[in-house]
Amino acid sequence: MSVLVTGSTGFIAQHVISQLLDEKFSVIATARSEAKATHLKSLFGNPSSLTMVVVPDMIKPDAFYGVFEKYGPSIKYVMHVASPFFTESDDYKRDLLTPAVEGTKNILDAVKKFGAETVEHVVVTSSVAAMFDFTRDADPSYIYNEDSWNPDEMEQALIDGGHAYNASKKFAEKLAWKFVEDNKDSVKFKLTTVNPCYVFGPQQFDENFRPVLNTSCELIHQLTHAGANATVDNEFVGNFIDVRDVAKAHVAAIQNPGLSGKRLLMISSRFNAQDIYDVMNEDFPELQGKIPKGHPGTGALHHWEGAVADNTRTKKLLGFPFNPLRKTIDDTVAQIIRCEKK
Ligand code: NDP
Repeated sequence: MSVLVTGSTGFIAQHVISQLLDEKFSVIATARSEAKATHLKSLFGNPSSLTMVVVPDMIKPDAFYGVFEKYGPSIKYVMHVASPFFTESDDYKRDLLTPAVEGTKNILDAVKKFGAETVEHVVVTSSVAAMFDFTRDADPSYIYNEDSWNPDEMEQALIDGGHAYNASKKFAEKLAWKFVEDNKDSVKFKLTTVNPCYVFGPQQFDENFRPVLNTSCELIHQLTHAGANATVDNEFVGNFIDVRDVAKAHVAAIQNPGLSGKRLLMISSRFNAQDIYDVMNEDFPELQGKIPKGHPGTGALHHWEGAVADNTRTKKLLGFPFNPLRKTIDDTVAQIIRCEKK
């Protein structure tokens, strides 16, 4: 029995695939081109348990039909990870909203058409962006949790790239839950969504290191090159989760029936640039003189007066501790330094 994983070439999906292979699942993974598919398979060491398939354009209604026609009966689980994650675009509908929403619709339609009786579980990689009301970030009375939804509709989605990305995740996730409700008598599968905040951590393979990393890790990458006299930006405060914990949640979702029908709010802790510089300054002597010191110990990890994330339910359901900021930043930065030396 196999797990179909979309968006296999991405930062998170590669960790998901790695953990699935470690757990002895067979994986069928989609990539947008033959070259990307061949390259990724070779990075994994060409295992027979990993089958690559090319899905060039997931917004075509029949995009995933070929995968199910060929491998359908063996596909027991589906993990839909693929979605555009960037904010620079001159056409938010074309580049962000449509692929997120249509990609989700098309994979679920394919499951219904070909795997109504055989697919047992679908995991959709959603986001905190689907849950969070961004207008209330500074409001300490705002507590959000696994039941929360980003209130934005299409009007707000088109304000800028950030709004468009956030809304793309909300619209796609809403569609998935509605699909399950509308089709509860015709499909067998249960749905779990994994909703991470900023995902940091090392790339699965050093070979994937690029001058510009995936959107979330690029944030750390840029801090390593800030310069000793850079101003520490205390305005930007976010939440983070380690990519290995995000992957673990995907795998747990198909192993643990208690996660069916759940939204998993994946947050380890708050952070801002000061917190990240503190770890870099303490743990990486080679960065001395290249990054600012700021005011150590004063970051958002130590003090935060805004919105509160309550993911008690998620932590209890998953039952494993999330990596703390220090471990995640250590591993992310160690890889950046290692790869840039080469
Ligand atoms: P990456 O950009 O590294 O990976 C995105 C993946 O989706 C790639 O495989 C990419 O393919 C594929 N993809 C993007 N656009 C399309 C499209 N139009 N059609 C088909 N495939 C597409 O991002 P992440 O790994 O960080 O993100 C993976 C998922 O996790 C996304 O759903 C994202 O929204 C979600 N997420 C990520 C967070 C983070 O901080 N990283 C936080 C919360 C959620 P290709 O390689 O060919 O471009």
